[in-house]
Amino acid sequence: MLDMQRIQCDVLVVGAGPAGSMAARTVAENGVDVIFIEEHPVPGTPVYCAEGLSVSGILNGGIEPVPPFVKQHITTARVYAPNGNTVDLTSEDWTGYTLDRQLFDKALSEKAEEAGAKLMTETKALSVIKEDDVVVGVKAVKDGEEIEFRAKIVIGADGHWSIIRRSSGLARYFADYVTCAQYLLSGLNLENPKINEFWIGAKYAPGGYAWVFPKSSREANVGLGVRNRHTKPSIEYLKDFIGNDPRFRNAKIIRKNGGICPVSGVLDKIVLDGLMLAGDSAGQLIPITGAGIHSGIEAGKMAGRVAAEAVKEGDISAKRLSVYPNEFAKYWGKRIRDSYKVLEMLDKFSDNDLDTLAEIISNEDVLALANGINVASTLVGLIKRSPLKLIQLIRAYLR
Ligand SMILES: Cc1cc2nc3c(=O)[nH]c(=O)nc-3n(C[C@H](O)[C@H](O)[C@H](O)COP(=O)(O)OP(=O)(O)OC[C@H]3O[C@@H](n4cnc5c(N)ncnc54)[C@H](O)[C@@H]3O)c2cc1C
Repeated sequence: MLDMQRIQCDVLVVGAGPAGSMAARTVAENGVDVIFIEEHPVPGTPVYCAEGLSVSGILNGGIEPVPPFVKQHITTARVYAPNGNTVDLTSEDWTGYTLDRQLFDKALSEKAEEAGAKLMTETKALSVIKEDDVVVGVKAVKDGEEIEFRAKIVIGADGHWSIIRRSSGLARYFADYVTCAQYLLSGLNLENPKINEFWIGAKYAPGGYAWVFPKSSREANVGLGVRNRHTKPSIEYLKDFIGNDPRFRNAKIIRKNGGICPVSGVLDKIVLDGLMLAGDSAGQLIPITGAGIHSGIEAGKMAGRVAAEAVKEGDISAKRLSVYPNEFAKYWGKRIRDSYKVLEMLDKFSDNDLDTLAEIISNEDVLALANGINVASTLVGLIKRSPLKLIQLIRAYLR
């Protein structure tokens, strides 16, 4: 491990986001030698996130939901229909926090280091190295010098634009994705900072939604994501959204960001001989909400455990590594698939249809559909309460 030009390890993880840090930590906890590399100086910075996470997501990452990792306790999700009517969701599933994502991701990476994983920052992966169709390492650059990492297994946890995925010959990109714009606003006077707001309808964000996730009564992430039906850039929709809400009129913009959420679901192929993908690089987000921290943490854990076992057994074949995507598919993969079907169904709803839906839908229904849980039975129940127009739209999904 001394030669800077060529570094050997059992497992190399690319990316120190939630999926990568969790994978690195799990490999190390299983007693296998692991390095994780991150192109930025500090994991967690910069932030491309609305910073919402459930209590279970935080705990499953091994972090306590306490400051400074969390900023604001959230007890309610309020969904705004296009006509302004609201549905309030208060359930254990929506109890969560607005994170300090910079500190949260940094803490995840520190946990991996404490477990024995070696972090190399300001180290940017350039491509995988393949020999006889097997991934045997990664070319990277640090301080202007090229480094060749040689590893038995590479885990690509380098986000939606993953160079590891693209250079390995797996999918170039996703069939469907959400383009987001977001401001962190301060100087607010929010009535109840424990409420996360979701504004749905083409008038706000075609194919997606707008959100207000408070970090305190004075600060909130205000953003939105649009899909293929949009007619102008997401930032223009955001400016309209903010300009039309008197609460934001005198706000100060603290941070501008945005980003992409791949929402078409988990890619068909996320392992090769010597290679695994985890997190956004594999498309492992819940499509309706665009939430990928929790699923990324779980994917990282599964990928890390399977990688460690495979190294110990001396079998790094795609067949052996497939234990990971098969395991992920059982719970998370199904949620992601079902959630995407609901998103496709909602694409057919006009803003008037969404207003009607908001009148007949129950809290439990919204939770189920948004999270991709019990989707089919929820829709069957919904049909019984729906007017004809909605019945037709919902039935098309159930076919
Ligand atoms: C605007 C927006 C708002 C969102 N809000 C939420 C939310 O509120 N809640 C939620 O759960 N999810 C949210 N998401 C989704 C969530 O941020 C992602 O799903 C999550 O970060 C995925 O984790 P990851 O570890 O797979 O990837 P990432 O968090 O993207 O981490 C990838 C890491 O790899 C590094 N990297 C990339 N390329 C290289 C390279 N070549 N070499 C070395 N390192 C590299 C990056 O710097 C980064 O640190 C949001 C996304 C967007 C865009």
